[in-house]
Amino acid sequence: MAETPPEFLAASLKGLCPRCGAQTLFAGVLQFSKTCPKCGLNFEKFNVGDGASAALILLIGTVFVALAIIVQLSFSPPFWVHIILWVPLATAATILSLRGTKAAMLYLEYRNDAGEGRTG
Ligand SMILES: [Zn+2]
Repeated sequence: MAETPPEFLAASLKGLCPRCGAQTLFAGVLQFSKTCPKCGLNFEKFNVGDGASAALILLIGTVFVALAIIVQLSFSPPFWVHIILWVPLATAATILSLRGTKAAMLYLEYRNDAGEGRTG
């Protein structure tokens, strides 16, 4: 059984196992599975941490503030329009991009054999 490892971009966007390419990386919205049910790769030994979060929040915050200013200057909507527009959109953008970067970091750790120190 020849399993082809997934491409970096596909693995990051879809949450694929970096070894077998099955869509098994996430058990929840932002929670990794413990192991890949298909090939048995242990996801828990990879520690991607929260390094991407701060940069993402700054980036997403900048984009959405710019969008909000454009909408305000173009349409002058009432304030509640901004609330129902930006809160769900920014939340969705944050979760989706966090998923992508977490998957990307795990993929890179797997590819480069990085991870916590092991004996043997
Ligand atoms: Zn797998």
